[in-house]
Amino acid sequence: MEKTFFIIKPDGVRRALIGQVIDRMEHRGFVIENLLMCQVTKDLLAQHYEALVDRPFYPSIEAYMMSGPVVIGVLTGADVIQSWRKMMGATNPTDALPGTIRGDFAHGAEGASIENIVHGSDSPESAAREIALWFGHD
Ligand code: UDP
Ligand code: MG
Repeated sequence: MEKTFFIIKPDGVRRALIGQVIDRMEHRGFVIENLLMCQVTKDLLAQHYEALVDRPFYPSIEAYMMSGPVVIGVLTGADVIQSWRKMMGATNPTDALPGTIRGDFAHGAEGASIENIVHGSDSPESAAREIALWFGHD
């Protein structure tokens, strides 16, 4: 069974969408293997988004991701990494199809950061790295 790492981002928590996001995971048949609410720290976020840290818009991503508590977790299931990415929808909610979480619950970005409710690992390597980073083991 494959594992992936997910985040319900501060906008998802603030807008009381935790239940609806979790509901979709469970309806799909994925197993929630770990679940925790926390406040992201600068250091951990920079490690998580190591590929984006040097981009000019990283400070706005940092402000967004630290704007309130998040829910982090590990999801298990067959082909869960790509399936969860499909359920999230495109990065920019403007491009996300209806039926996806981003397509149903978010709209186009107005500020510098793209507020899009959820995160999901994009490959087996990212999933292993992110689970180890956030939960200290894989
Ligand atoms: N992001 C942003 N502006 C950009 C690119 C990314 O605000 O131009 C934010 C957005 O919240 C996105 C996250 O940084 O979800 C990570 O970017 P990535 O390209 O990895 O997208 P994802 O894997 O989340 O779809
Ligand atoms: Mg990504």
